[in-house]
Amino acid sequence: MNDNDLFAAARTHIPGGVNSPVRAFKSVGGTPVFIERAGGPYLYGADERRYIDYVGSWGPMVLGHAHSEVLAAVHAAVDRGLSYGAPTASETEMAETLCALVPSMDMVRMVSSGTEATMSAIRLARGFTGRDQIVKFEGCYHGHSDSLLVKAGSGALTLGVPSSPGVPAALAEYTLTLAYNDAGAVREAFARCGSEIACVIVEPVAGNMNCVPPLPGFLETLREVCDAHGAVLIFDEVMTGFRVALGGAQALYGVRPDLTTLGKVIGGGMPVGAFGGRREIMEHLAPLGPVYQAGTLSGNPVAMAAGLATLRLLARPGFFEDLAASTRSLTDGLLARAERAGVPFAAQAVGGMFGLFFTGAGSVSSFAGVMACDQPRFNRFFHAMLERGVYLAPSAFEAGFVSAAHDAAVIQATLDAAEQVFATL
Ligand code: PMP
Repeated sequence: MNDNDLFAAARTHIPGGVNSPVRAFKSVGGTPVFIERAGGPYLYGADERRYIDYVGSWGPMVLGHAHSEVLAAVHAAVDRGLSYGAPTASETEMAETLCALVPSMDMVRMVSSGTEATMSAIRLARGFTGRDQIVKFEGCYHGHSDSLLVKAGSGALTLGVPSSPGVPAALAEYTLTLAYNDAGAVREAFARCGSEIACVIVEPVAGNMNCVPPLPGFLETLREVCDAHGAVLIFDEVMTGFRVALGGAQALYGVRPDLTTLGKVIGGGMPVGAFGGRREIMEHLAPLGPVYQAGTLSGNPVAMAAGLATLRLLARPGFFEDLAASTRSLTDGLLARAERAGVPFAAQAVGGMFGLFFTGAGSVSSFAGVMACDQPRFNRFFHAMLERGVYLAPSAFEAGFVSAAHDAAVIQATLDAAEQVFATL
């Protein structure tokens, strides 16, 4: 069957034919590519067509697809059974690994998705402080729990419904949304109602409205006002964790949150999330403390095996330097080719994540700046690259991801394709 037939069949019993909205290509138009298998930097479509993959399962596949050591660890774990609902030593090893590598983490609880991680971290912050109000930033996405699906990014933004029906208005009132990278707005909000704010949650590098790094001082301001007002600072590092640096964005920018949420890379492609941080806060969690949180498949042994094997490989010296250099060679190469073709274009990268912007603005540091980019032009670029075998995120509002398997030849092939495409835009 070709992609059109597969998509038609999928839509019969799956809403929109997909199990996560952005996969439907609604933003860029056309039919999604159905994937048969993946290896290294490549995805293979149903027709065996090969694509250079810059989505990487939306972040987890930092080693490339089907890495032999990760698969071997998973196979060995599978042979011992799929789930026990009882503690395993692999969970302790995962907790020790995360607490050793993430600067602010004393204790950690495993969950099965990024959504669960952020939802639970918010509950813990509210339980710890005895306050209800939370602060988030427009265009940041923290999963689809009620409190966080207010002016959100990612698929919510792509579909033009950043705030979803079904979220009770009474609950959404507890979510105060500010402009990303606007330190002044944060200070004002805390001056107005700082004693009611339980927590600030932020993507330390915004990756769900394209890729927008923090301006100097922004993360530091969050730390300062949270300290001054007794609020919990949560870095949502579901995307940036083990993606922008070993130790995540908090290691890169030198700002310590109270709580950190993780996902994606730490599961190596299996469904995994985690939240952790200061011992004093984490000890409020059940069964030690009164804040309830639980999960049938949390700490699943197969998922722990995939995650631990991944973390072992990326903790090798030089891993993130090499990843950042590959990513930079991609964005620099794209910038040069766009300029030669006279296409207004900007590209931003942090570690192994990047963003492409069809704008003459030079750089983009705000949600408004992202929204001002030429979306139809991105969509034409996306489809022309796809035709040439390069699979980019199917939305102008998503970050892209490079893996360790994207070697110089793969990057060059991408740039060659882009050179042709820029000339047609
Ligand atoms: N937080 C961030 C920063 C994310 O990028 C995502 C997913 N893209 C989530 C939370 C939600 O994670 P999940 O899709 O695993 O629920």
